[in-house]
Amino acid sequence: MASALEAHGASLYEPLGGGKVRCTACARYCAIPDGSHGFCFVRKNEGGRLVLLTYGLASAVQVDPVEKKPLSHYRPGTRVYSIGTVGCNWRCLYCQNAEISQEHEVRGRPLSPRAAVAGARRYGCSGVTFTYNEPTIFAEYALDVIQEAHAAGLFANFVTNGYMSPEAVDLIGPHLDAVSVDFKGSGEAGFLRKYITAKGPEPIWETAAGLQRHGVHVEVTDLIVPSVGESVEATRTLARYVRDTLGPETPFHLLRFHPDYRMMDLPETPIPTLEKLHAVAKGEGLDYVYLGNVWGHPLEHTYCPECGAVAVRRYGFTIQAWNLDRENRCRACGHRIPIVGRPPSDYLPTFATPV
Ligand code: SF4
Repeated sequence: MASALEAHGASLYEPLGGGKVRCTACARYCAIPDGSHGFCFVRKNEGGRLVLLTYGLASAVQVDPVEKKPLSHYRPGTRVYSIGTVGCNWRCLYCQNAEISQEHEVRGRPLSPRAAVAGARRYGCSGVTFTYNEPTIFAEYALDVIQEAHAAGLFANFVTNGYMSPEAVDLIGPHLDAVSVDFKGSGEAGFLRKYITAKGPEPIWETAAGLQRHGVHVEVTDLIVPSVGESVEATRTLARYVRDTLGPETPFHLLRFHPDYRMMDLPETPIPTLEKLHAVAKGEGLDYVYLGNVWGHPLEHTYCPECGAVAVRRYGFTIQAWNLDRENRCRACGHRIPIVGRPPSDYLPTFATPV
């Protein structure tokens, strides 16, 4: 299905001469001859002009808790209108959304920026999220949705692999409210080359720091693939980067791998492996380290770094207890926990204690 919006001109590119253009949206910087696509398949050179084929075409739309992104320290307990398109600038062999991210056919249902925001409001969402595939490749569409969302009083966040260009960071950063940057396999270069088709972690580091400089709330995730993508040294290196560049209060999520796509032969990440890496990250001085995709595990909770009390009790994406005062200070010792916002007053999920 195509829409009247499909030939929307891209802004992130530059002419190279001879009809060629260079896309400047992500760290691949594809040089694209006339009539061809970039690596992500959705940015095409049409007569020396780069167009975004997926502008206004949503492959997936869903209402999610913000905790699913995962964002644990930004507007907790709110719902977000999640939007994905097709294509990606990475080729993760275990992608959980391969049917859309590795799609080479431009498809989706029309969703203009105005319609996206109307949908978000209709479902009681407080924000819009760009997720499921890499939003950098449709940055121009995302930016238009974000501006519409802000006009309606909604926040906006990216779930990104961080493989952005500095140009994209500077285009999107001033408008984005929050981001979760996903370092896979702790960003170890050999893992990225073999399982992701990315050259190395440097662009991801620069994206996280660049977005933070623009005032964006940053959380870091690290998906741990058992045996091939688990390394104490790599996790330590990443934790040090987060501590020294983004700050020790940056939430750091270690996520459990599930077999998917072309890596069905590996098991889920053993929980002791995640616990070991959690201890490594904590040992490097990070205050808020979480385990993800391990429902019911005590390391889903937020612990006060000062007194060790459970500040926020969680079960999966649900907040079960909120032990912070009106200024988000620990009720036990008064230490301020850097969480932006607090659950809405009508937040009463099943089996939760009153907030
Ligand atoms: S977004 Fe990245 S992968 Fe896609 S065309 Fe641009 S540089 Fe290439």
